[in-house]
Amino acid sequence: MKARIVKGDTVVVLRGKEKGKRGTVKSILLADGAATVEGVNVVKRHTKPQQQTSNMGGSSRTGGIVEKEAPLPLSVLQYVCEACKKPTRLRRGETKEHRVARICVRCGEPARESAKGA
Ligand SMILES: [Zn+2]
Repeated sequence: MKARIVKGDTVVVLRGKEKGKRGTVKSILLADGAATVEGVNVVKRHTKPQQQTSNMGGSSRTGGIVEKEAPLPLSVLQYVCEACKKPTRLRRGETKEHRVARICVRCGEPARESAKGA
């Protein structure tokens, strides 16, 4: 399946513990067939204190907790149309301006262009 979701799209999670959650795609990991979605599938990562013991002040550098979105497989993500606000599929088609775009199969509105240089 060709990846149709691009960075900046709104998606909904179809399966898993994050099912039903919506968010904006932060990044696409094409090699993994996965994507990270803003605020979805957030995992807490404990960052370890730095190994270097060059702390002169004596204050120990404690590790922290970093919240980070873990990638979700693209197969569990569905595009949400910005026009009709519904999870939908996209097809390739021409807009009124005869521009090839991703078009919502529900309402026929073209999706936003893939983020260029973003
Ligand atoms: Zn639509």
